[in-house]
Amino acid sequence: MSRLVVRLILVAGLVLAVGSAPASAQSIERGGVHADASEGSALDLVGASLGQRERDLVLTLRMRVGLDPRLLAASGSGELCTTFQPESGASRRLCLSRVPGAWRLTAGSRSVTGTVGRPAAGTLVVRIDPGLIGLQPGALRWSVFARAAGCAATGAQVPCGDRAPDSGSYAGRVWRAAVTGCTAGGAAQVSTGPRGKRIALTYDDGPSIYTPRFLDELKRLGVPATFFLIGRQVAANAAIVRRMLADGHMVGNHSWNHADLGGGGPAATTQIAGTQEAIRRASGFTPCLFRPPYGATGHDLVARARDNGLTSVLWSVDPSDWQSLAAGTIFQRVVSHVGPGAIILEHDGGGVRTQTLGALPQIVAALRSRGYRFVTVTALLGYPERVTLRR
Ligand code: ZN
Repeated sequence: MSRLVVRLILVAGLVLAVGSAPASAQSIERGGVHADASEGSALDLVGASLGQRERDLVLTLRMRVGLDPRLLAASGSGELCTTFQPESGASRRLCLSRVPGAWRLTAGSRSVTGTVGRPAAGTLVVRIDPGLIGLQPGALRWSVFARAAGCAATGAQVPCGDRAPDSGSYAGRVWRAAVTGCTAGGAAQVSTGPRGKRIALTYDDGPSIYTPRFLDELKRLGVPATFFLIGRQVAANAAIVRRMLADGHMVGNHSWNHADLGGGGPAATTQIAGTQEAIRRASGFTPCLFRPPYGATGHDLVARARDNGLTSVLWSVDPSDWQSLAAGTIFQRVVSHVGPGAIILEHDGGGVRTQTLGALPQIVAALRSRGYRFVTVTALLGYPERVTLRR
């Protein structure tokens, strides 16, 4: 075989490899790795990098030696803090410290939710939603400071901590995360999530004139929800649909015109596919959740929804808020029926929804006090989201 032929095969192989790379880069990481000089402290930072994975910032810190978590004990004022200075706006600080048995993340004096991993003895990986620490998409400068617990008090001879970089700051960026889809899996029809302290609040029959008020209130309360939209109402309210997604809510399909599709058949597919297309056109997002109008469902409908990439989502708590009940009644019915993994059915469209809206703060407060955490239905079911990062 001539050399030329061999080369052609190699080139073809390379092209194939490139062509078969996953189309959706879910794990885009951006940001550089930087290293500084050793300074001899027990918390000697030798590398820091800032990337982004889907919505979350990923801060990776490498130390010269394996980290003893006690060095970051909050009780001894140990901490590892990252300061972010956006190009425009106030600076933000995210600090990591150790409390008995757990890592603690704080922004200012507030505890914030994130994950902390230690994939190797000298490596810490902190993952956090930048919105939780008040960071908006855009360019920023950042630096890290580590201080060992009890070090300052004892007047130790070695440096108490370290800084990265040694002087100045690194360049970084928070990318705009746009969710473009999600992937259904597991059971084709559900009415609850897995047993646990996570629950999902869902709103049907919008978008409506009431929806922006729900979005304002949910934002104030810090609660993500799932909105099942009626297809024919989407185009005129496209900005509301985009806001739902930008605010971190999930969007699902509730048929084109709220017809009873329980019997299935080709008309059901038309209703489902038309709504998928309307939502995609309005927002760039393709849903993976379907709520059958009236909860009318059947084997054929569930199969048709699944053929369109959708899980049929019923509910486990129904306060019948659409019956124009008093806010107090809606509240009572919800909190008395919620259990682990609950999916709560409410409405942001199809009629006057001020009572549903009025019941929301009380419902959130009561269920949070019982240890429940609100998540979207896709998060509850563990469905991956497709996210693209843009400048
Ligand atoms: Zn409905």
